[in-house]
Amino acid sequence: MTTPTSTTPGPPQSLADLPTRLPQRRELLTEVPGPASRELAQRRAAAVPSSAVSVMPVYVADADGGVIRDVDGNSFVDLGSGIAVTSVGASDPAVVTAVAEQVAHFTHTCFMVTPYQGYIEVAEELARLTPGEHAKRTVLFNSGAEAVENAVKIARLATGRQAVVAFDHAYHGRTNLTMALTAKSMPYKTNFGPFAPEVYRMPMSYPYRDAHPKISGKTAAKRAINQMEKQIGASSIAAILIEPIQGEGGFIVPAEGFLPTLADWAQKHGVVFIADEVQSGFCRTGDWFASQNEGVVPDLVTMAKGIAGGMPLSAVTGRAELLDAVHPGGLGGTYGGNPVACAAALAAIKTMKDHDLAGRARAIEALVLPRLRTLADELGTDQGPIGDIRGRGAMLALELVKPGTTEPDPETTRAVAAECLAQGVLILTCGTYGNVIRLLPPLVISQELLEDALGVLENALRRHSITGGEG
Ligand SMILES: *Cc1c(COP(=O)(O)O)cnc(C)c1O
Repeated sequence: MTTPTSTTPGPPQSLADLPTRLPQRRELLTEVPGPASRELAQRRAAAVPSSAVSVMPVYVADADGGVIRDVDGNSFVDLGSGIAVTSVGASDPAVVTAVAEQVAHFTHTCFMVTPYQGYIEVAEELARLTPGEHAKRTVLFNSGAEAVENAVKIARLATGRQAVVAFDHAYHGRTNLTMALTAKSMPYKTNFGPFAPEVYRMPMSYPYRDAHPKISGKTAAKRAINQMEKQIGASSIAAILIEPIQGEGGFIVPAEGFLPTLADWAQKHGVVFIADEVQSGFCRTGDWFASQNEGVVPDLVTMAKGIAGGMPLSAVTGRAELLDAVHPGGLGGTYGGNPVACAAALAAIKTMKDHDLAGRARAIEALVLPRLRTLADELGTDQGPIGDIRGRGAMLALELVKPGTTEPDPETTRAVAAECLAQGVLILTCGTYGNVIRLLPPLVISQELLEDALGVLENALRRHSITGGEG
């Protein structure tokens, strides 16, 4: 097996305060939602369909560092980063300056028509940052789903094979092909079919739910490999597509050995190994990419979310021979690699390096995990609601279950998240069973703000254990 290339994680660094524009504190001036947010909600109901839901009932006026300020002047601690996007903060000064400078010159020319330097620089940077020392090429798009679709197109063309393997609990997007690749029906797929063919789903390694009997990473990989060989046949498989840490599916960290065993099998059988790092990439898990944790070198990496400080950009980076196999004009799009988004990406990546945001992600893990484990001990497994604590870096989660069981508890999960919001802490949930609280703070968050938000979460969890926080 090959070794990681880009960075070697050092010890966690501190969460020293970084300069910010907005005061970094939680402050509620009105009820939540306040009058200005309620008025926007009313206008929204007449203009936006109810299918496009928002998790939070408050409307944003400003955001900076670890704080989101709403239109009523309330300041919330942001533990979601717009779903792992604003890792450098929602108005990182370097991103703001780079975007303003680029906008003043040209907003768009279309890379397929009149190319520009920023696109090349992003491609060069991604070749350096992604795992592996092999020759690489990069194509840029707008969304994570678009990157995944294109990675599959590349793998199919390069191999001349059709089958694509995805996993239980996977999330890869909402376009037709990526809906097929996504596991969960409601709300992502229900009644939106027919779906793209030649997608096969394999069992994931899910340590919390593979505990009795305990299934090792290697065994879980062999279970999937056995199914692939029997149900599809290795020589028909174009690609294995996997999130190294699953996102929407519940922040599931596969058992050690699972990813390398799959990657080795893929290599042996000419199957393209695609790591979907859309959520786990760009310092989120304490390294540039989550694949690096076990030294996995994917053939293709899909990236989006954290890549460009909030501007829409996505990428496929991978082996030169795979990307170069595609005929001229076979990959592209009007906006793909937009120059403003490229400028933002270069600035965001520079901020990640300048402030060692991977180190900050490890510091966030070092602060949060022990506190959550202490709380779980205090509450005890028989009292609920904490069944599992997991994650890496600043991609951390709590799986909530009914007291004394492993039965998912989505109601309590929703109630805990709502209670945090009412106290001024934005928290997201996820999971196939809707019972996972996920913590995705901006990596620039200050220690004080993070500890304050954790206190709110801990108290909400205490109130929802059957001891009511008394025991
Ligand atoms: C969010 C996500 C996607 C889809 O990205 P969009 O930008 O919403 O299309 C794909 N894969 C993973 C792992 C994601 O988390």
